[in-house]
Amino acid sequence: MNRSGPPGDSIGRVRPHGARVAAAVSATEERRKLAITFDTEWWGRAHLVAGVERHRGLARDVAKVHDLIALLDRHEAKATFFVVSEDFQGELLETLIEAGHEIASHTCSHPLFTDLDRAAWRREMRESREALEQATGVPVAGFRCPSWSVPHARHEEFLDLLLEEGYEYDSSFCQFATKLYGDKAFPTEPFVYRSQLVEIPLPRIGFPRWPWVGGFYFRVMPGVVLKRYISRERPAFLYFHPWEFYGQPDARGLSLIDSFITRYGRKNNERKLDRLLAGLGSQYDFVTMKSVADQLRITAKQETGQQP
Ligand SMILES: [Zn+2]
Repeated sequence: MNRSGPPGDSIGRVRPHGARVAAAVSATEERRKLAITFDTEWWGRAHLVAGVERHRGLARDVAKVHDLIALLDRHEAKATFFVVSEDFQGELLETLIEAGHEIASHTCSHPLFTDLDRAAWRREMRESREALEQATGVPVAGFRCPSWSVPHARHEEFLDLLLEEGYEYDSSFCQFATKLYGDKAFPTEPFVYRSQLVEIPLPRIGFPRWPWVGGFYFRVMPGVVLKRYISRERPAFLYFHPWEFYGQPDARGLSLIDSFITRYGRKNNERKLDRLLAGLGSQYDFVTMKSVADQLRITAKQETGQQP
C-alpha cells in the first residue's frame, strides 16, 4: 500500500472542480486510528486447549511473529504485542521494538483472572511488566488480561491495581459473555478511569452485535463483511493471536465445538488480514494501542475542559 499517492486514493467519493486540495486535506484529517493487537502467548496456553496440547516448542509461534512483522511492514502498520513474559523474552522482543511495535503485558503465565486473588493479580501485573521492561529497556504502558477474564464484580479493584502498578491503559473488559469470559454489565465504549487509566473494552460491531474484530469471530466472518463492519463502525482495535495464523495444531481430545473455535480458518487467516489491511489502508492509520489510548485521554480531557 502506498500512503503518499495517488491523490485519488484518499479523496474517495469527493467530486473535482477545485475542491480536491481541501478535500484531500480534510480526508487526511479524518484518517482514523485503528490499533492492531496480538495476544502473544504460546499456543498451549490458550485456555480452550490447555491440558490437551502436548507440543511444547515455541518455534512455530516465534516464526509466526516474524511473519507478522513482515506483514505489518507491508502495510506500514505499527502494532501492539501483549506478551506473556514467561513465554517470550530476549531477541524476539528486541526485534519487535526495533520494528517500531509496542510491547505490552499479557501477564507472566496467562492464568484466568477469575480464579486468582488480589495478591496473584498484582504479581502477574508487576512481574510481567518488570520482565518485559528488562528485556527491551522500554517502559510498558498497557495490559490485557488473559481471555478477557476480569470478573465484573471486581473490576474496580482490577483497575485500581493497574494504576498502582503504573499502567497507563488496559484492554481487558468484554461485554460479550461466553462460558469462558465476559459480562453483560461491562461497557463497550472506551473511558478514562480516575482521570488516569484508559480502558479500551472489546468492541462489538456489525450484526449480530458480536466481537467480530478478532479471534474466532474474525476467522469465521467473510473478509468483505468484516471490512464493511470496520469501515462503518470504526472500532478502536483488532485482536489476534500468533497461533491463529498457522494451521494444523496438535491438540487432541478437544470437544467438537472447542476444536471448531480454536482451529477454524487459521490456514487462510494471514491472507485475510493482509487483504483487510490493504482494503482499509485508505481510511486508517494502523497504530499501537498506546497511541489510541493517548488520543482517547486527550479527547476526554478536552471534553471535560481540562488541559491535555
Ligand atoms: Zn491470551
